[in-house]
This record gives sequence, C-alpha cells and structure tokens, in this order.
Amino acid sequence: MFLSERLKAVKPSPTLAINAKAVSMRQAGVDVISFGVGEPDFDTPKHIRDEAVRAMEEGFTRYTAVGGIPELKDAIIEKFRCDNNLSYERDEVMISCGGKHVLYNLAHALLNPGDEVIIPAPYWVSYPPIVVLAGADPVIVGTREEDDFKLSPESLEMAITPRTKLLILNSPSNPTGSVYTESELQALAEVVLRHDIGVVSDEIYEKLIFDDRPFCSIAQVSEELKSRTFVVNGLSKTYAMTGWRIGYVAGAREIIAGMTKIQSQSTSNPNSIAQKAAVAALNGPQDFIQTMLQAFDERRQYLLQRLRGFTGIDCNMPGGAFYAFPNFGYYFNSKAGGTTMKGSADICEYFLTEARVALVPGIAFGDDNFVRFSYATGLETIKEGLDRIEGALGKLV
Ligand SMILES: *Cc1c(COP(=O)(O)O)cnc(C)c1O
Repeated sequence: MFLSERLKAVKPSPTLAINAKAVSMRQAGVDVISFGVGEPDFDTPKHIRDEAVRAMEEGFTRYTAVGGIPELKDAIIEKFRCDNNLSYERDEVMISCGGKHVLYNLAHALLNPGDEVIIPAPYWVSYPPIVVLAGADPVIVGTREEDDFKLSPESLEMAITPRTKLLILNSPSNPTGSVYTESELQALAEVVLRHDIGVVSDEIYEKLIFDDRPFCSIAQVSEELKSRTFVVNGLSKTYAMTGWRIGYVAGAREIIAGMTKIQSQSTSNPNSIAQKAAVAALNGPQDFIQTMLQAFDERRQYLLQRLRGFTGIDCNMPGGAFYAFPNFGYYFNSKAGGTTMKGSADICEYFLTEARVALVPGIAFGDDNFVRFSYATGLETIKEGLDRIEGALGKLV
C-alpha cells in the first residue's frame, strides 16, 4: 500500500522527534518538566460536567442534527451578540468536533487546488497541513518581533496574488500571545476588501486576554468584512474543555451549508452529550474564566520576569493565551560538549537532555529564532523548569 499524494505533501511535524524523546524519558522514570502543553491545566467546571451527566441520564445519547442542536446554536448566537456585537442566524452557525475540525471543514468547503492561503508566521502548527490536505498552497508571511509578531498591511498586500483565496488570522495568538487592536484590524481589513479575499479569524483564545485589554474581531470592522469572514471559536480553551471536542464557526450561509455537507459525510454531528455541556458552559456562570485568567496572569508575570533576566534572552510580553515566545537567537552557534546550537530544534533538544525540560521549538511555528513556553502548568513547576533552564544556559559556551 502507498500513502496518498495528498498526505505525502504534508511535512513531518518538527516536534515529533522531541515529543517522542520526552515521552520515552518520562517512561524511563526521568522527571521531565513540560512547558509544551497546549491546553489549560484546569478541570472543566462542575456545572458543565453535571449537565453532561444529566444529558446521559436523560438519554440524550443519539445522533443530533449534523451542524449541532438548535439550543447550542442559539447559545452561540447569543454569545456573538453579547460579546462581539455580531448578529447571525441559525443557518450561519455550525458546530464541529473542536475548532480544529471547524478549520478542516472550512478548508475543504472553500479551497481548490492551486488556491493560496496566507498564513502569518509565527502560526499555529495545524494551519499549513490543514490547507495542504485540502489541496491548496499555504503562503507563509513573516512578521517582526518589533511589531509584536503582527501582520502588517504592507506585508499582506505584497503576499496577495490572483490565486489568494483566504487569510488566516489568530488573535490572541498561539504561539506568541499577541492580540490585534481594532485599528490594526481595520488596516488589514482595508487590504482584504480591496483584493476581494476571505478571512478565517481564529478566536479560540478570545477570553484569555490580560490587563483588561478589549478583544476585537475583524468581523466587527464592517458588515462587508463580516460577510467575508469566518469566525472560528470553541470551548476547549475558554472552559478547559479540550477533550470534549466542541468548536464552532459563524459565516456565510452557503459555505456553512457546504461545511455541513462535508461533516454529514465524515463525523456526522459533534458528540450529543458534549453539545449539552456546551450549552451549560455558554449560558451558565462565567466567573470560572476570570479565576483561570488570574492564575495564568500570575504565571505570565513570573515567567516573563525570569526569562528577561536570562543573559541574551528577549521576550515580548504576551497579551493573551497562555504562551510566551522568547528569542533564543543569542545562543545560536554556542556549544555544549561537541554539539553546536544551530536553531530552535537544537536548543530544545539540549534543554531536554541537559535540563530535563520539554519545550516546543519555534521552527514548528515557522520561526526558528524562538522557543514556545506554555504556562498552562503550576507556578512551582514553572519555577523549577526555569531554574533548570538557567543552569543549562550557563553551560553553553
Ligand atoms: C487549541 C487551538 C485550536 C482548537 O482547538 P480545539 O480543541 O480543536 O477546539 C485552534 N486554534 C488554535 C490557535 C489553538 O491553539
């Protein structure tokens, strides 16, 4: 048997080898500290879990409407109205098995071979493969650390060709934590409109923004922008519900209908019980989010203060999500034993072997000068991990 050509076009994940090594070290009993996790270290709140139990007890255990139950669609519509001042009808909203599945359905509903999708780097690891699996071409556009890793209207303009179909935006960003302001989005929107392209706005970290900064969606810029934007969101990060697999999208009804057709022939509806739990999450008390955000903020402050204290390390203050993305370029070409650090993968490999700390190399996100730290882990662990890294950095010559 041979793999499909489509699959062959997907590059092996640069993090795979390092992950495998971290896992086997753990299995061998080594106390590896991980800054690698991409999910909140909190339990799903009790009232949400209770609702799932109730749904099961009441026999809500069968197929549902493919695009999600009306009750959940209404809760999502209400969320968009309250939080984002965006209005949608039921047939402009669809629920899938996580935000990632939404993106996958979207790519298959929208893209043809030869279409280009603009992805600003650093990007979330799954964007390029999702585009490639749909037969289209990712066009990676670099951003600058000085611009807080945000796409400039000039770079966007320069990347657009007659084949450009979509731009993917992610704010707050995984891996950088940057958050676009309203005026930055307006400037990008102007370019988008001039070139008649669509936008996928991944807003999965919408609720995880620090310092009371406001969240803005590019769909809010104007009605015209809204009509060409697909707002992607989900419950994984906001409600610590990664395992439940509920994500959603709002956008043009013809495309939503197309995505529903794809979903009907692949996964069918998202899990019935998780959908009921999601209704409880969206309609129930929201104070849990604040508690989680405060914990993340405390860790963020500590992590940043420590990182910035390390010789040669620079790190932008992340405005949202639960990641920091420091620059380790200073250590490139330094040596440990016989090995020279040539890029982020070498650095991360070194931290894993020398310091027993797992990190994700920036190359996985399209920028080799950086390393991603997730602070979705306890303060004590963060402190111990940073002590180890500090020790390991001191041994590089
Ligand atoms: C976690 C994440 C998602 C989606 O997660 P799901 O669990 O599939 O909902 C989407 N985009 C980014 C940037 C993420 O970090």
